[in-house]
Amino acid sequence: MSRFLSPKYKDLVPYTPGEQPKVMNVVKLNTNESPFPPSETAKAYARAHPRDLNLYPELLCSDLRSRIAEMHGVAMENIILGNGSDELLNFATMAFCDRDTPAVFPNITYGFYPVYAAVNLVPYAEIPLRSDFSIAPEDYYNCGKTIFLANPNAPTGMCLSVAEIEEILRHNPDNVVVVDEAYVDFGGETCIPLIKQYDNLLVVQTFSKSRSMAGARLGFAAGSAALVKDLDAMKFSINPYNINSMTMAMGLGILEDEAQTRANCRAIMENRDYTVSELEKLGFSVLPSRANFIFAVSEQIGGRELYRKLKERGVLIRHFDKPGIDAYTRITIGTKEQMDVFLQNVREILEEQT
Ligand code: PMP
Repeated sequence: MSRFLSPKYKDLVPYTPGEQPKVMNVVKLNTNESPFPPSETAKAYARAHPRDLNLYPELLCSDLRSRIAEMHGVAMENIILGNGSDELLNFATMAFCDRDTPAVFPNITYGFYPVYAAVNLVPYAEIPLRSDFSIAPEDYYNCGKTIFLANPNAPTGMCLSVAEIEEILRHNPDNVVVVDEAYVDFGGETCIPLIKQYDNLLVVQTFSKSRSMAGARLGFAAGSAALVKDLDAMKFSINPYNINSMTMAMGLGILEDEAQTRANCRAIMENRDYTVSELEKLGFSVLPSRANFIFAVSEQIGGRELYRKLKERGVLIRHFDKPGIDAYTRITIGTKEQMDVFLQNVREILEEQT
């Protein structure tokens, strides 16, 4: 750190993203991207439709916001776009948390929530998961804090039902509940319809996973018009042009291909079931995932060791050096071919052990 860094950041521990190797001669199952390229329509839109690039992007992003709103049966005023959903999670932390209203989230969840709290100098509390890694909804009732819940949760892949989320909303009428649905398209159920009834609900989604646009950076949040206005105030105080013209055009393009998106998600879910059953044959226990990744543990090999040995063989998965989950690894679900390479390598590694 330089001698100029503000003391307020002296203890800041930034988020650690998964490895992004420059050369792609690896089977990359470590950051929950889609293995499928964006559709041809999406690519064609990105090439043909952006506003001239000598001009700033359209400030209100009206076409894309209207299209997303229409898909979910809400109004354009209920939608804000972000440079990835990460940006919106940060805006939500800035807008809805402070010393009097700290953030709260599970102790095992998306690693960015504590970082956004820290960088915004907001205190936060972590609530332990149950021993089966599920979230106990009652733990969040009347908690007097801004609640962040990934649903499905990461890295477990496990879900709360919409009815359980609704109970959390009902028991926190004076606090915002942020439901992060980054992985909802792989078998979960969205809470977006509830924004009409609950003015304290903010739902965040991303185009990075099911819509194959991680590199283009696009996410959105849905909430009451008033909540969205608050987030807009953050956007216009930091980066009014947060969505570049090519990404905006590409977002419209990918939404022309919803049938393709759904087919991709179905393929991922099938590959997930296949991978789980093969891993179980090898003695792994796998948490019940409704995401495009699984969280698995073996009595035969530790999480760090499995990660390291697979990496040596050109297969990247994710390991978290965190008490309670360090025996586990998180494996992104890719194509059937990628999963077969992964499984074959796991078989060989386990054979070497014996
Ligand atoms: N929420 C969760 C739970 C995630 O795992 C991720 C991806 N790392 C994000 C949000 C952010 O995704 P993006 O910024 O690419 O939309």
